[in-house]
Amino acid sequence: MANKDQTDTERMEKIVSLCKSKGFIFQSGELYGGLNGCWDYGPLGTELKRNVKEFWWRKNVLEREDIVGMDGSILTHQAVLTASGHVGGFSDPMVDCKVCNKRYRADQLDEIPTCEKKAQLPKGEDKSCELTEPKEFNLMFQTKMGASADENDPNAIAYLRPETAQSIFVQYKNVLDSTRLKLPFGIAQIGKAFRNEINPRNFTFRSREFEQMEVEYFCRPEDGLRLTDEWLEKRLEFYSEIGVPREKLHVLDIPDEDRAHYSEKTYDIEYDFPFGQQELEGVAYRGAYDIGKHQEHSGKNLEYFDAETKERFIPHVVEPSAGCDRTILAVICEAYDVEDLTKEGGKKDERTVMRFQPCVAPIKAAILPLLKNKPELVAKAKEVKALLQPHMNIFYDETAAIGRRYRRQDEVGTPFCIAIDFETLGEEGPNGEDFTDTVTVRHRDSMEQERVAISELLPWLLARIV
Ligand code: ATP
Repeated sequence: MANKDQTDTERMEKIVSLCKSKGFIFQSGELYGGLNGCWDYGPLGTELKRNVKEFWWRKNVLEREDIVGMDGSILTHQAVLTASGHVGGFSDPMVDCKVCNKRYRADQLDEIPTCEKKAQLPKGEDKSCELTEPKEFNLMFQTKMGASADENDPNAIAYLRPETAQSIFVQYKNVLDSTRLKLPFGIAQIGKAFRNEINPRNFTFRSREFEQMEVEYFCRPEDGLRLTDEWLEKRLEFYSEIGVPREKLHVLDIPDEDRAHYSEKTYDIEYDFPFGQQELEGVAYRGAYDIGKHQEHSGKNLEYFDAETKERFIPHVVEPSAGCDRTILAVICEAYDVEDLTKEGGKKDERTVMRFQPCVAPIKAAILPLLKNKPELVAKAKEVKALLQPHMNIFYDETAAIGRRYRRQDEVGTPFCIAIDFETLGEEGPNGEDFTDTVTVRHRDSMEQERVAISELLPWLLARIV
């Protein structure tokens, strides 16, 4: 086991380092020592994230007639989070070391950690932290609104939202009244959430600022359990479509004693990260709890009126709630591969390749003129670039030998490399073929090459990058 752990740790270190060197993810505020628990996405990470979010939006909103989107404010009214229970109870148990002052989440400590200050003590001495009794630490970031915010004015308090869900619950009636939706229907949202995590760790996995992709699916009470199971299946399918295979995912049916008291059913979807099996998403049947609480606290009627049966009732909610950054991290971990190759002449070589599914790959195609000092090749390559650029993120590269350029694209997961060579310009192929106005398309995973006519290139690529 020790050996495997070491390999996984090394693998994670390599992934973190590749993310930085290739421009996927950087530590936020790195120049000034880093802001703990916050991350900036670089040029390629931004494309990857946009692609994952767009794919999620397409599957959960655009391709469905029963789900609409919303984009709520991040600053949240105190009353909303009081009603939801976050002000009173959104906390984790925290313990401090009385000697080195380090803080830990009590429920995540498998063993008493080694104290940083006692590490120098002679062998045989007790080096463990002396821990305080656990105390509850509220995870919400509080802020004051308005220029004249009085320190003691409770009405000036607002919070950075700890989840996207609450803005959906408090707007559900407005959405219902402004659309012609009928139960069952859903409201989807992708956006930032903030939690003052006691111990941010495992790269972006546990951050203090992160993005969620959530659907609140409203239904009749009798449909809740069935729809929860259906959502679970849909969500598992989504992950395999973006390159996280079913066999690396684990579904936990959360037992009664660990579920929120109002939830009749909760599934956690976990992924085998290099640092262990950890949660990607929760799919929870939340009953009438959320809307019921907002009705109670606001004093407004939030019931749904069923025009056919003439019934009035609080709709029940099924919530698939995914972490966008955790999904990105799973996609990156899954894509990362170091492949052993044997070069011509038997020499061993290895290549690093990010095997992203084309639908999420940051760059869809690289356009590579064989030589940069041949104006005809460059002109043709630029023509191909102009043809594709309005439709997808492409990368144009004319520096270095073609083999090196291929490897660079492998490292960032570009599924297709398009080489413009002398055959494109009309030179005969090795067997006398006429390849005029065709390009060589190299496939990232197999490294196989084929010729595609420039006139066919756009539909050829579009069919493969969705
Ligand atoms: P955890 O137990 O890991 O703290 P949670 O069960 O509190 O997570 P939820 O409140 O169910 O998380 O949030 C839904 C999703 O939001 C999680 O499945 C996860 O993907 C994402 N998420 C929650 N907290 C964080 C975080 N600190 N950093 C990144 N993503 C997060």
